[in-house]
Amino acid sequence: MTVKVRFLGTGNAFADGGRSHACIHLESTGASLLLDCGGSSLPAIKKFLDPATIQAIAISHLHGDHFGGVPYFLMEQYFAGRKAPLAIGGPRELQQRATKAGEALYKDFFGKITIDYGLSFITLKEAPVSLGGAEVSALPVKHVAESDPHGLRVKIDGKLIAYSGDARFSDELIAVAKGADLFICESTNFSKSDPAHLSYAELIANRAKLDCGRMILTHLGAETQAHLADLEIEAAQDGLLLTL
Ligand SMILES: [Zn+2]
Repeated sequence: MTVKVRFLGTGNAFADGGRSHACIHLESTGASLLLDCGGSSLPAIKKFLDPATIQAIAISHLHGDHFGGVPYFLMEQYFAGRKAPLAIGGPRELQQRATKAGEALYKDFFGKITIDYGLSFITLKEAPVSLGGAEVSALPVKHVAESDPHGLRVKIDGKLIAYSGDARFSDELIAVAKGADLFICESTNFSKSDPAHLSYAELIANRAKLDCGRMILTHLGAETQAHLADLEIEAAQDGLLLTL
């Protein structure tokens, strides 16, 4: 059994270097889900897979580069004639915020048309829930508080994949990474200090505290991208496919 991990978007909010917003596709036998679906994710998804095959979306936090693609995904699937249900998990206010975003963008669709393919929203918490053929849990992390930031832990086909979402270094981040076969971690900055985000320098300094196997960096800002050749931790790029 293998798990396929496709990095569809590895950029930060500002799309530095032309990278797409946060979006990672996990696939295994009977499972297909996205981790985050940022504003530019729909075109990124369509380069590699049919959105209709995606069973669920897990959202780490309520910033547009992580959930802004949800309205586009919902509307595209409606007009594509989707029949399969779609479950979306994330922070407590996700349904309300995604609906409001949809209404702001397409007032003629959201709030007027009933999505008929079995759309459901679920609040992700520490206790794992079944989502898209995987077991998903969410642990709070330190980022901008208003975005209700969480790291995600996904059990899929016997593998544990952990994802930082956006976070600065903390004991909470250590808990997210604990025991993961693959830890996907943001590294917005290379060495610059930032109250909301991690730097590569902090990750190297604290690497021993992260009890995980393979680690790969994502959400790369311009500073980190300028130092790609210096990184001693793997870095993702848009389109990268890993198999576990
Ligand atoms: Zn972000």
